[in-house]
Amino acid sequence: MVAIDSGATTGGTYEGVTFQADKYSDGGMTSSTQDEIAGTTADTLFKTERYGNYSYKIPVTTGTFTIKLFMAEIFNTAAGARSFNVSVEGRAVLSNLDLFSQAGHDGAFEYVVENVRVTDGTLDITLQSIVDNATLAGFAIYSADGRLDTSRPEPEPEPSNCNGYVAITYDDGPTGNTGNFVNALKSANLVPVTFFVNGSAIGNNRNAIQQMLQVGEVQSHSFNHVDMGNYSSAQVTDQLSRDIQAIQNAGAPKPTIFRPPYGTLNATIRQAASALGLYAITWDVDSQDWNGASVQNIVSAAGRLQNGQVILMHENQNNSLQAIPQIAANLKSRGLCPGRISPTTGRAVAP
Ligand code: ZN
Repeated sequence: MVAIDSGATTGGTYEGVTFQADKYSDGGMTSSTQDEIAGTTADTLFKTERYGNYSYKIPVTTGTFTIKLFMAEIFNTAAGARSFNVSVEGRAVLSNLDLFSQAGHDGAFEYVVENVRVTDGTLDITLQSIVDNATLAGFAIYSADGRLDTSRPEPEPEPSNCNGYVAITYDDGPTGNTGNFVNALKSANLVPVTFFVNGSAIGNNRNAIQQMLQVGEVQSHSFNHVDMGNYSSAQVTDQLSRDIQAIQNAGAPKPTIFRPPYGTLNATIRQAASALGLYAITWDVDSQDWNGASVQNIVSAAGRLQNGQVILMHENQNNSLQAIPQIAANLKSRGLCPGRISPTTGRAVAP
């Protein structure tokens, strides 16, 4: 009767059911993975999610409904890393759900709720986070006697509150701290961000790159994190092409932006990067996190960001992790939103 692909911007037909793009949500944020999903042929449905503490409010006529819930653990890779509750029309239907324990990482999980009587005009599906975020990949509702109430107006999309965009960037990953950064960024809704990564640090840690992609873009920071000030064009090309390959091998799109280690940038480096399709940038604001800046100093540095500017931070600096909630609040108070970096201008732009 009605099926919604949570977190999706377009609809599609999966396993014979036509799903619409995400709508009827009240709160929550969206994310996605590029990984394949096990246990289903409807991978596209499970690859996007809406997460957080939120509800779906579906306008329906009075009737008795069956609700099929679709979920996947597209982020965490261990049991106990996520736990949440789901209720329908105020009735608890799933409690302390740990998707990893149910279906593993990137595994499809489906749950059917039957005999849901709706008499108040709105079918409520409510998600409550306990550990990490509650998540839903989609849902389908069916009824013999009820139907979607199309007499009520469709919900209006929320207006943008962004007066401008800034680029939040983290260098030197992936590290053992990637998951903590990604969780903190999600919790603070400080997304998207840009990670400048070193191919030598990726190793077999494909999962860290996949986690980064859930909150932003993965771009190049050279393979070995070397100062290339005295490098020949061929040496620069070697560093960058190996980094591009490592990033793509980890399942990320081909990078389009390069930030040189130590900010060392000259004509040789610029031209070699450009020949590989990489726009070389440094930063507008240096948080000084690498130099022992306190959480408050890092927050203050982010407070100087103006529309279009880029701030330098690092994924191996715990103070930058701790600064995330305050940076998010500060930007919001100034009407600035996180953006992506344009590969033609190097400026922060709308995602
Ligand atoms: Zn670096």
